[in-house]
Order: sequence, then structure tokens, then C-alpha cells
Amino acid sequence: MLDQTRLRADIPAYDDAARPSPVFLDSAGSSLPPRIVVDTVVDHLRREAEIGGYRAAAERLDDLHAVKSAIGSLVNADPSGIALSDSATRSWADFFYSIPLSAGDRILVSGADYASNAIAALQRARATGAVVEAIPSDGTGQIDLDALAGLVDERVKLVSLLHAPTNGGLVNPVAEATRIAHRVGAMVLLDACQSVGQIPIDVAALDVDALSATGRKWLRGPRGTGFLYVRPELAATMEPARLDLHSAQWTGPQEYRLTPDATRFEFWEHDVAARLGLGAAVRYLLELGPANVYAGVAANAGHLRKTLPQVPGVTVRDIGTLHSGIVSFTVDDVPPTEVRDRLRDQDITVTVSHRGSTLLDMTSRGLDAVVRASPHCFVTTDELDRFVDAVAALSPGHRS
Ligand SMILES: *Cc1c(COP(=O)(O)O)cnc(C)c1O
Repeated sequence: MLDQTRLRADIPAYDDAARPSPVFLDSAGSSLPPRIVVDTVVDHLRREAEIGGYRAAAERLDDLHAVKSAIGSLVNADPSGIALSDSATRSWADFFYSIPLSAGDRILVSGADYASNAIAALQRARATGAVVEAIPSDGTGQIDLDALAGLVDERVKLVSLLHAPTNGGLVNPVAEATRIAHRVGAMVLLDACQSVGQIPIDVAALDVDALSATGRKWLRGPRGTGFLYVRPELAATMEPARLDLHSAQWTGPQEYRLTPDATRFEFWEHDVAARLGLGAAVRYLLELGPANVYAGVAANAGHLRKTLPQVPGVTVRDIGTLHSGIVSFTVDDVPPTEVRDRLRDQDITVTVSHRGSTLLDMTSRGLDAVVRASPHCFVTTDELDRFVDAVAALSPGHRS
């Protein structure tokens, strides 16, 4: 069990004890970082201003190397399989655009796939003559494993799996789906953007070929950070779509040599302060214990899934059998953006997920937008109840 008082003492957003705490329910968007993350970033920016960015980075070389080790510990991967980038989408694309495709090849995407992934798949299909097909969902809303088994053949080059989607509490059965994909030799690229930092991840147990994640969401790192995991044997044989002098070495007038490990998916330039901050965020999570954090998130989301439906006019929209920390809902006769804005006026932060972010899933359920409440483990039950009361006061049936 986590000590919430201590957790919250680490969060600058709660420093002002004189006013009511902000109710922060957007860790699926951009979470509240612990103090160590903010201090790490700001201290490094100051140091760069004192002695220049190159010397400042040189002073922190060991800590920069340690970022990949920390991420490796978090997802149970060797650090040689980790490539750092500036977002989950960048990492996803770095891998995806490097997969050889030709006419007639098939790319399978998940029903809850994220728009950026689907758009990239469609672009490559246009360029190569490959085709994009959606994996159907089963009655619960998760990936239909039987349908997937019937869909795959040796023309399937990639299965794009979504661990936890952006627009609700679904968690997909990744290990089972991966087993099916591997039977026909297809690669599996897992979008773990909404699960890393929230749900304990073990890439060896999931057996995926690659995984992408972001720093700013459940990991509570800085914006502009993300990472890619690539199975080390694969990283050593894949040719990235784009190279620079860090991902490869210029060895002769007509020659270059790729950097041996997943580093070949990185470019040289990066935000050093943000990267150090990401390392601090991952170490902070490892110290708390990923299983403890998950228990805290699950308890908070579970509390909302119990109390929100008791509010007249509120419908919780989560699907699937296993649930993440994202609680999605709608309020009768109050548009989701209005719910968000009226809650913001009370210092309650939620976001809206629109149809275009998860087009296939939202269209199949006839939804245009949902409100998304994503409480991290540091949110108190009292704050959750303040949020539910505020939602109750919004619905048209409410007479105050
Ligand atoms: C937020 C999100 C992304 C994109 O992450 P970025 O860091 O903004 O690139 C990808 N997939 C899912 C499921 C997301 O929720």
C-alpha cells in the first residue's frame, strides 16, 4: 500500500495547503510530475545556461546512460533494446516506417487503435500497395481473439496492438493476441502509451516485438519524451527508415555502419533536461513499486466506476473485461466539452476524447466524444467524491 500523504508531499501542485487541492484527473493526458522530475529538468536547464549544453550533458553522461537501464528495469528488457525519443508517436513511427512492406502485404490494426497509428498505416498502404484491415472486437469490446486467429495468414506483416486505448478503460489481451500473430510470422508492435507507468509491463511475458510509450502520461515524466522497445535480436537486424550520425557511423565514401543495438532508432539531438527528467520519473516509479502504483490507480478508477453510474443521467462508457485507470463517461444533454469546461472552473481537470482519436471504436459505438477521467494513485477518495458531486450538479435533472 502506498502512503498517499507522502506521495502528495512530493507533488508541487499540492504545496499550497491554504486552498482546496486541485482535483487532478488527467494522468491519461499529461500527469502531475513529482518534485524530483521538475527539479531535475530545471536544474539541468540552468546548468546549460551556465556552461553550455555540451559540457552540461557531459557532466551527466552516467545519468543519461542510466535512463535506458531504468526503463529496461521497468519493462523487463535489456537496455540495448531501448531507443529514446520525444513522444510515443515518434517511437511508434520510428519502428513502423522501418518494416519492409510490399504490394499485397497486410497490416492489421486494433479496433481501438489510435488515430496517429492508423493514419501512418494508411499512408504506407498507399505508398506500398499493402492493405490495412481492422481486427474485430468481441462482445465485451476487447480484441476478438477467435476472429484474429481466422484473419491472420502469411501475408500479415504487422499486427498493431493497442494495450489500453486513449478513450476508455479497456485493456486488451496482448499476450494471447501476440501468440496468434507469431504463428504466421507477423510482427507485433504494441502501443503501450496508456499502460506504461500505470499497469506493470513485462515485454518478455507479453512477447511483443516492439512497444512504444510516452513520458508525460502515467509515467509522470516531462513532456516531449517517449521511448521505443525493440526485441534485441530484431533491433540488430532492422534498417531504420532514417539515419543520422548517431544511429549509424560514416565509415567510408560509400559506406556506413548501423549502430548495433536499438540506438539505431535514435537521432543524436535531444532535450537533455527532459531526458534526465524522464529517468527521474522512471526511478521514482520503480521506488514506489509498479504493482503498488497499479493497485492505487485501480482502486481509484474502481471507485469512480462504482459511484459515477449512481448519478442520474451519467453513463460510464468503458468496455472490455479488464480495466485501466481511464474512466470514460457521458452526461445526458450536456456535451462532453461543456462538462470539461464547467469542471475546470472548479479546478477539476478532466479531458475529452473525440471520435477522431479512435475512429473505428467510437463510430461502432455511435459516440462522438466522451469525458475522460484518469485518476493516478495520488488522487484521494475525497477528491474523487468532490468530482462526482460536481458532475451530479451539472446534469440537467439536478435542481439545486
Ligand atoms: C496519447 C496516446 C498516444 C500518443 O502519444 P504521444 O506521446 O502524444 O505521441 C498514442 N497512443 C495512445 C493510446 C495514446 O493515448
